[in-house]
Amino acid sequence: ALHGSARYSSAASYINNHDRIASPINTKYFIDNQFVDSKTTEWIDLHDPATNNLVTRVPQSTDEELKAAVDSAAKAFPGWKATSLLARQQVMFRFVALIRENWDRLAASITLEQGKTFADAKGDVLRGLQVAETSCGITTQLTGEVLEVAKDMETRSYREPLGIVSAICPFNFPAMIPLWCIPLATVTGNCLILKPSERDPGAAMILAELAKEAGLPEGVLNIVHGAAKTVNFIIDEPRIKAISFVGSDKAGKYIYTRGSEQGKRVQANLGAKNHACIMPDANRNATVNALVGAAFGAAGQRCMALSAIVLVGEAQEWLSDVVEQAKRLKVNAGFEEGADLGPVISKHSKERIESLVQSAVDDGATLLLDGRGYKPEKYPNGNFIAPTIISNVKPHMKCYTEEIFGPVLVCMNVDTFEDAVDLINANKYGNGVAIFTNSGATAARFQRDIEAGQVGINTPIPGGNYFYGKSGLNFYTQLKTVTSLWRSSDAISTKASTAMPT
Ligand code: NAD
Repeated sequence: ALHGSARYSSAASYINNHDRIASPINTKYFIDNQFVDSKTTEWIDLHDPATNNLVTRVPQSTDEELKAAVDSAAKAFPGWKATSLLARQQVMFRFVALIRENWDRLAASITLEQGKTFADAKGDVLRGLQVAETSCGITTQLTGEVLEVAKDMETRSYREPLGIVSAICPFNFPAMIPLWCIPLATVTGNCLILKPSERDPGAAMILAELAKEAGLPEGVLNIVHGAAKTVNFIIDEPRIKAISFVGSDKAGKYIYTRGSEQGKRVQANLGAKNHACIMPDANRNATVNALVGAAFGAAGQRCMALSAIVLVGEAQEWLSDVVEQAKRLKVNAGFEEGADLGPVISKHSKERIESLVQSAVDDGATLLLDGRGYKPEKYPNGNFIAPTIISNVKPHMKCYTEEIFGPVLVCMNVDTFEDAVDLINANKYGNGVAIFTNSGATAARFQRDIEAGQVGINTPIPGGNYFYGKSGLNFYTQLKTVTSLWRSSDAISTKASTAMPT
């Protein structure tokens, strides 16, 4: 067993199987660059999804602890804002190097707490690392503009930090999503209060340790824990200027509405039902492989998971190939060699997914592949569901109107391309959509007519997210414009003018 700070201390000391936790230790919170034991009486048990063994207990941070995190950030902000951009950039360079050094350790924490396979967990870390790498280019990304408005007069624009900002994270990408926020929020001069998912905060805690080691001053990144109570604190605390949220529709709508009401800037990425339109002229083999990987990878617990396919005309015959490929996937605990997909996050989630599959059967859909009740030999107590494929799904069915967020693919048949576009556009969810076709003209029509923010053409997970890159930088900064007039004295008029100059 790994105890106390040892758990966060050495790159080599990571857990790499499902039996290493002998005596679970409580997760600490992170304030002023220290890991601190919570004084709470409310603890959230965190179980390894592959075994349901207790891994750690996560505190519901107390009111005092939450307030202390904001006090710490408030104290740190003036100094951090005044720190030169080059110095902040240097911290990011070191942060990037440390994430690379600790890549396996971060991934192992994800596999243990979240359940995804070790190989997939490494991808989770990499996607976040890339945001940290991008933030190193801040010196060319944060440049302002100058406009000469009139003789002797110019308007300059700057991007300034907001102050104290916050991030509320979901369980499905324990490293990537905290890393959508940590680098961009801090390199732009803000202080960040981060709340990881209470279901898997381990990777965020390692990231905090690495940020400290990289030279982030105390108070610039603080980590608090808990569920809705912590979120409500963040919404109501007036010193927190912005909330970055990623998670389900239900929590997201609540946070967006209440946060905006409090005058906060809120960015929110919510739930999804990502569709793929399969045209019969596509490359059958490549399409089937892409569909199966995107539907069942990470046990379907990706916001960009492909969860609904719309088969046009003769492409409907390809379903048998999809089923065959899906059957070949190996369902096992995430540290096991050769595992293609691991368990889902919790017992409750497994039950929810299984009941949605049952609802499809009850609604008259066809269950082509039933992964319910699957148990890997060594892991009889895990939250496993094998790939499940439901066909003849109709738009009114619950398995279609709800996000399933598990290894379940729903399949619908239509006669024409136009029918496919209408069907997809009628669904209330984003995030992304894909088309598989060999026709450039069909792809071009699809790209134009489809109403989704992220479109893939012959690629199933068209992740082009808005939280990083330019829109992320804009979110964490506010525009300040300075208009100045430096006129030689002989031009000054003797009488004041009250009219707007025309
Ligand atoms: P979730 O909404 O249950 O939890 C997300 C965060 O909100 C957590 O930190 C949680 O503590 C908090 N929260 C949950 N319920 C709350 C409530 N009632 N009041 C206040 N706070 C609450 O989401 P999850 O299950 O952790 O994550 C999966 C969801 O996230 C899926 O819907 C998935 O599509 C979505 N997601 C979206 C994106 C994207 O970029 N669009 C990315 C990843 C995940």
